[in-house]
Amino acid sequence: MRMLDIIENKKAGRALTTGEISFVVDGFVSGHIPDYQMSALLMAICFKGMDSRETADLTMKMAHSGDIVKLPEVSGIKVDKHSTGGVGDKTTLIISPIVAACGVFVAKMSGRGLGHTGGTIDKLEAIPGLRTNLAQEEFEAILKRVGVCIAGASQNVALADKKIYALRDVTGTVDSMPLIAASIMSKKIAAPSDAILLDVKTGKGAFMKTYEEALELAQTMVEIGELSGKKTVALITNMDIPLGNNIGNTLEIIESVQVLKGQGPGDLTDICKLLAAHMLQLAGKGTLGECEDLVDDAITSGRALQKFVEMVEAQGGEIDVDLFSNLPQAGIVHEIKSPVRGYIAEMDAQGIGIASCVLGAGREREDSEIDYAAGICLHKKYGDFVETGEPLATLYTNDQSKIDPAEQKFLEAMHFGAEAPNPAKLVYAFVSKDGIEYTAN
Ligand code: URA
Repeated sequence: MRMLDIIENKKAGRALTTGEISFVVDGFVSGHIPDYQMSALLMAICFKGMDSRETADLTMKMAHSGDIVKLPEVSGIKVDKHSTGGVGDKTTLIISPIVAACGVFVAKMSGRGLGHTGGTIDKLEAIPGLRTNLAQEEFEAILKRVGVCIAGASQNVALADKKIYALRDVTGTVDSMPLIAASIMSKKIAAPSDAILLDVKTGKGAFMKTYEEALELAQTMVEIGELSGKKTVALITNMDIPLGNNIGNTLEIIESVQVLKGQGPGDLTDICKLLAAHMLQLAGKGTLGECEDLVDDAITSGRALQKFVEMVEAQGGEIDVDLFSNLPQAGIVHEIKSPVRGYIAEMDAQGIGIASCVLGAGREREDSEIDYAAGICLHKKYGDFVETGEPLATLYTNDQSKIDPAEQKFLEAMHFGAEAPNPAKLVYAFVSKDGIEYTAN
């Protein structure tokens, strides 16, 4: 077999055989297939797609490219959650301790930022001392003791995804339905959970721009998850607008704590409560309504925040949840003022995510350093009325030269109108092996 023929096949729109997919994954992991050939194939997949058999083959091959993690010491249902990626999406940091505070294990293996979207591991690493690179024994011990642990997938889990993910991030090959499905589900299959909740984002700031694409991705991942023997469901949620008000690693840690205190912004709080309730339902904790009550109680009693602090400390970190005094601070703070008077009619989440990356919150190249203090705090959101000169957002960075390009990107993402726009929907649908349920909100 020759990699060049496989690239030509995909370029011509032909389905790859199970053998060809196996050859590509083995060859890339072992280093026999160079980055430039893999990049060409990934780009061809972006344009020509993969059918469901190819996607399932790629997922299974990637899942078995490393260890399949089992945690025999932790007895009880372990529930996992994965978002397809968004801007300001810090839900994992919030719902994992909520679910653990309700007595369900959350063994979470998370990733780094990808493209314009943030990653849970980068956010957690903004907390001084916190380690995400945990050996399996330590991960298992923390999970058993605290009930929740969020680590980067170890070097040996879904090895192929690790290499392919890093290459996709810097070659413009992220937004492909089969590549996203295989990337996410290969890690979920190799991870130690019994049930999986997928948060499939759609809209301007998501990789799946349309509802139809998101639905196809949700259905594909639910099918693959169920095939692998794990109960899998998905929510399709709105990512036209950034989630919450803070974007950037340190800023998102602060906002997560605010939600756990019951003081977070409404959109973020509502989505976190719903996701957490679905995770509890997957673990057999009752009806969705009963699980929503459990979630409310975990927040109002302070147990969810306490669980977050326990998790941070167990992973070596230190956090002051009132003053946040030891978190990285930005040396440069700049306010963006509204250039016009009117309603915010559009807030392009992708543009705002890119503005945050420009400030230093994300990576431009595989080896780029992150500025943990960099990011954006939104003062106005979609549907709000603003006067000319009113503050729209504050930019944070440690590099003065980043302010002008970030401000320009931010303002390009904002559109104003004379009329109040229609209210935004937060959740579109719930997808399970039994079909699709449309949500009312
Ligand atoms: N999250 C992942 O883990 N992989 C993708 O490809 C996209 C989002």
